[in-house]
Amino acid sequence: TVIVFGSINIDLIATAPRLPVAGETLLGEEFFKAPGGKGANQAVASARLGISTHIVGRVGAHSFGAELVNSLQAAGVRTDNVSIEANASSGVAVIIVDDSGENQIIVIPGANGLLDNEDVERLTNLLPRAKALLLQFEVPMAAVVAAAKAGHNAGVKVILDPAPVQLDVPSEIYSLVDIITPNEVEARQLVGFPVDNEESAAEAAQILLQRGVKCAIIKLGAKGVYCATKEENFFIPAFPVQAVDTTAAGDAFSGGLAAAIEAELPLRQCVTWGAAAGAIAATRPGAQPSLPDRYMFEAFLKE
Ligand code: ADP
Repeated sequence: TVIVFGSINIDLIATAPRLPVAGETLLGEEFFKAPGGKGANQAVASARLGISTHIVGRVGAHSFGAELVNSLQAAGVRTDNVSIEANASSGVAVIIVDDSGENQIIVIPGANGLLDNEDVERLTNLLPRAKALLLQFEVPMAAVVAAAKAGHNAGVKVILDPAPVQLDVPSEIYSLVDIITPNEVEARQLVGFPVDNEESAAEAAQILLQRGVKCAIIKLGAKGVYCATKEENFFIPAFPVQAVDTTAAGDAFSGGLAAAIEAELPLRQCVTWGAAAGAIAATRPGAQPSLPDRYMFEAFLKE
C-alpha cells in the first residue's frame, strides 16, 4: 500500500485573449474545472498503476468537497481518511490563461491549510499496512514534518517531493526522509546554486545526503534524472518523447517511484519507473488525465 499525505485541490480555469489588468472586466473564451493538488495528483498516479493507494487530507463541504472525493474514488484512490470540513472551502486554484499561454494563478489553500496532528494520527493508523508514504509541501509544514516522523518511526519509506518551493525547509526533516525528489528549481532553492545538469545535480545530491536523506533523486526534466545514495549513484537519461504538456510530470514521477518501491524493485528500476511515468504524462495534456494506467505504462516500458 502507498499512502499520500497532502493537498486536494480543484483547478478553475478560464481562458481569455489576454490577462485582465487591475479593475478590468474582460470577456473570456472558455471555462473548465479539473481536480488537482500535488497530493491528489500523486495518489491518482499511484492508483492508476494498480497500486493500493490511500490519501489522507481534507476538503471543504460547501465547495467541491464531494466532487473531489468522488473523482479520487473514481481513479481508484481510497478516501476513508479524507475529512470533509463543514466550515472551510476546498483548496482552489483560480487560473487565467491567455492565448499566448501566459497565466495568472491564485491558490486558496482552504481545507488543505487545516491539516494537523489529527490527520497525522489517522495516517499513523494506516502506516502498519504501508510500504511508502508520499509527502509534498502544499499542506502546513508542521503537519508534513509530523507525518514524516510518523512514517520514519513506522519503518515506512518516506518520499518527499519538496514542492512547491519553500523558503524555509526545517533542517529536522532531512533525517526523517528516505528519498527526496526535487526538480531543478527546488534543488536550487534547497542548496543555493543552479542545478541544471548531471554535475551540479551530483553536487546538490551530496549536500542533501549530508543533511540526512538516505537517497536524493534530482529531476532534470527532459534531460533525465540523477540519483545518489551513500552506496551508489547514477544518471538516467529521459525517455525520448514528444512533450506536449509537462503539467503533473513530477507527480507522475512520484507515483511511478512509489509503485516500484511498493513492488520492492531495486533502486535503479524505481527511478526508471518514475521517469517512465513522468515521460508519459509529458506527452498528454492536463494534470490527472495525463497520468498513465498500468496497461499504458507496461506497454511504454516494453518499447
Ligand atoms: P516537475 O514536474 O516536478 O517540475 P520535471 O519537469 O523534472 O519535474 O519532470 C519530472 C520527470 O518527468 C522528469 O524527471 C522526467 O523523468 C519526466 N519528464 C518531464 N518532462 C519530460 C520530457 N520532456 N521528456 C521526457 N521525460 C520528461
